[in-house]
Amino acid sequence: MTDFAATKAMFHIPEGMIYLDGNSLGPLPLEAPANMARVMRDEWGDMLITGWNKAGWMQKSTSIGDRISRLIGAEPGHVIMGDTLSIKVYQALASALELNPDRKVILSDNGNFPSDLYMAQGLIQSLEKGHELRVVDPEDVAANLSNDIAVLMLTEVDYRSGRLHDMKALTEKAHALGIITVWDLAHTAGATDVQLSACNADFAVGCTYKYLNGGPGAPAFIYVNPKHANTARPALSGWLGHDAPFAFDLDYRPHSGIERMRVGTPPVLALAALSSALDVWDMTNMADIRAKSKELTSLFIAEVETRCPELILASPRDADARGSQVSFAFDHGYAAMQALIARGVVGDFRAPDIMRFGFTPLYIDEGDVINAAKIIEDVMTNRLWDRDEYKVKSAVT
Ligand SMILES: *Cc1c(COP(=O)(O)O)cnc(C)c1O
Repeated sequence: MTDFAATKAMFHIPEGMIYLDGNSLGPLPLEAPANMARVMRDEWGDMLITGWNKAGWMQKSTSIGDRISRLIGAEPGHVIMGDTLSIKVYQALASALELNPDRKVILSDNGNFPSDLYMAQGLIQSLEKGHELRVVDPEDVAANLSNDIAVLMLTEVDYRSGRLHDMKALTEKAHALGIITVWDLAHTAGATDVQLSACNADFAVGCTYKYLNGGPGAPAFIYVNPKHANTARPALSGWLGHDAPFAFDLDYRPHSGIERMRVGTPPVLALAALSSALDVWDMTNMADIRAKSKELTSLFIAEVETRCPELILASPRDADARGSQVSFAFDHGYAAMQALIARGVVGDFRAPDIMRFGFTPLYIDEGDVINAAKIIEDVMTNRLWDRDEYKVKSAVT
């Protein structure tokens, strides 16, 4: 059984704050500053260029990928770190389309995060092969799978509502129709007990700064199913995905397996911060995380609905159909969230009217959930959101 009191003690949560935004940016693991300082001083500082060999910097993208593979139910040796999630979406989608050259349709849904759709649009333009991005309502995805579709590209957990797609059923149906699947795990990794390998997903991508707590701008990951590992062609064919980067050949030849999905130089310092977060993850079991997360989100819904009838639940009521976040719709959601943040309850706002709260048993417990609900009740019953100071919008919401 995961010791959640022990994991909670391994994060820096500012005094007086209930942090319900780990779905956007996870908190600082207490060990990360010292670990980064050590890597800077002992490795970058003292080893300089020899660090690539002596400190094993070049292997970090795969060894850290292996630690993440356990958390997403993937086979070890099939996850690699690097770049940002948007880049990894492009990479996965480009490879997936090539595996289905006779078809021209990418199917996605309008609950997807815009960046994923933008990357698809950009890729289609560059390819100039007449591909089409077809975007349907999330609940209509299954009905729209047909044998003209090349790739099904979905984000498993909706970033606004927390609604969870049925990855296993959709992947199965897609495969029966000859469709390749690309799953974005941005709000899944570290939030649910997803089983990539059991679902037989073709490609998966995700970021590590949300539930995984790797720090702002932490490197993304990409998973390629073993059955495609040596056939998927990397569209972003950088030198470090080459079979022999230090031969400096003039022609590209992909590395075997997942390493072909590496583009350029690994972000060694960022990987050091992520590694401290993974030290906490090493103490956990994803089934425990999922069970406790469902308890926390269900408790939050019950507490908020009893105290604040004016907030309308915008997440699935069924915990099995929900990721690890809860959203409420409220016309003055932006100002209400600013009032909450001023009182130490940190969630975020997504246009047009969604107040979003992320939960993770790693550092949130029942006491936090109840205290947060009490503060939300105070903001709502006393109309604290109606103050001018809370209505001014910042660039990042
Ligand atoms: C957070 C998120 C992103 C962000 O991409 P970056 O390149 O890391 O900025 C992309 N897609 C989804 C589904 C997300 O939730």
